[in-house]
Amino acid sequence: MLSVKEALDFLFAAVRPVTEVETIATLAANGRVLAAAQKSTIDVPSADNTQMDGYAVRSGDCASGTARLTVSQRIPAGQVGMPLEPGCAARIFTGAMIPPGADAVVMQEQCAAHDDGTVTINHAPPAGEWIRRAGEDICQDATILAAGTRLRSQELGLAASVGLASLPVLRRLRVAVFFTGDELTMPGEAPGGVLAPGAIYNSNRFTLRAQLENLGCVITDFGIVPDTLDATRATLRAAAQDNDLIITSGGVSVGEEDHIKPAVEAEGRLNMWQIAVKPGKPLAFGEVNKSAGDSAFFIGLPGNPVSSLITFMLFVRPFILRQQGVADPAPARAFALRADFDWPKADRRNEFLRARYNGEGGLDLFANQGSGVLTSTVWADGLIDNPPGQAIARGDMVRFIPFSELLY
Ligand code: AMP
Ligand code: MG
Repeated sequence: MLSVKEALDFLFAAVRPVTEVETIATLAANGRVLAAAQKSTIDVPSADNTQMDGYAVRSGDCASGTARLTVSQRIPAGQVGMPLEPGCAARIFTGAMIPPGADAVVMQEQCAAHDDGTVTINHAPPAGEWIRRAGEDICQDATILAAGTRLRSQELGLAASVGLASLPVLRRLRVAVFFTGDELTMPGEAPGGVLAPGAIYNSNRFTLRAQLENLGCVITDFGIVPDTLDATRATLRAAAQDNDLIITSGGVSVGEEDHIKPAVEAEGRLNMWQIAVKPGKPLAFGEVNKSAGDSAFFIGLPGNPVSSLITFMLFVRPFILRQQGVADPAPARAFALRADFDWPKADRRNEFLRARYNGEGGLDLFANQGSGVLTSTVWADGLIDNPPGQAIARGDMVRFIPFSELLY
């Protein structure tokens, strides 16, 4: 059996990242991966400006703690003031440029305006008070975003703040999916609305597609494929043509009466892995030839719904991020938290237990850790990464990975 790390190392060694670049509007770039580093052509802020509504002053004029100054100008944000003469103050509004000569802003709550066009400043500001300096956030020519960055809301805001209206991004990864198992029925399609004896709903189609959408993949869904060698081979061939990766669910367990293995072997190459992970264990990884000569990657997920979901989180997500050109898909962050439960029976495999925060700084465990129990994944906030051979006693610190680290 492979360890989790060994399986990941095999996957990472195989990666061929997407290289095609497209330039798209920054407004449309959420979730995309930056193809080239971006620099700022401006200082941000571009000039010294005020953080407060108030009066711009020469701090020396106000050193005594009360000063009556002539209000010589009014500077709203977006307007450029005149030089500030000694003995004068400029009425100024948040974001407006500091006029030459002024070196501090006094907030309006510390000032009293008079009808004769003067203002009393009841504060001795240190030089620089409430002034945001030019370039304080970003200097001109500084690299603001590295190639291979996944663009989230904050990266898009940063790009926009230096005026970037469009961004070069890598094209999205194209992923084909299909589902094996003659017992599978689509919700809404059970004959007469009643699930036939022995049938189950194809829940993996929903979890898998949502996971791929979260990663920004373009999905082609071939649906449920009949359990025959010909149908499986034909679907693999069709799926390989325009896609980077084919993902299936079901039929990778040992001794399974199934056509995934012979079909992928006939259309390309396949490794059947046994990974020392629970839930999970079987994972198929290979390639399916395209008619053009190159190939699409193939990943066969286990059919059990929780195994399928977690195997995706642990192996497919990091593989896809690397394929998508993400420079540093940092491993999912884990946190040391206290177990408020006992898990007395150690397993030889690396277990990923469904657990949730209990509000007292600890973790509770879902009672039924079965690999088909999807309710555990809805109840839980994440997974405890429990090493092989490890029992857990109440009060032990465990390694907890929140789902937020594994879904996007
Ligand atoms: P398999 O990996 O094909 O041996 O399937 C293992 C278990 O997962 C069986 O109980 C299947 O019925 C179930 N299963 C397989 N495919 C799906 C699916 N698409 N949705 C939900 N359960 C599935
Ligand atoms: Mg099956």
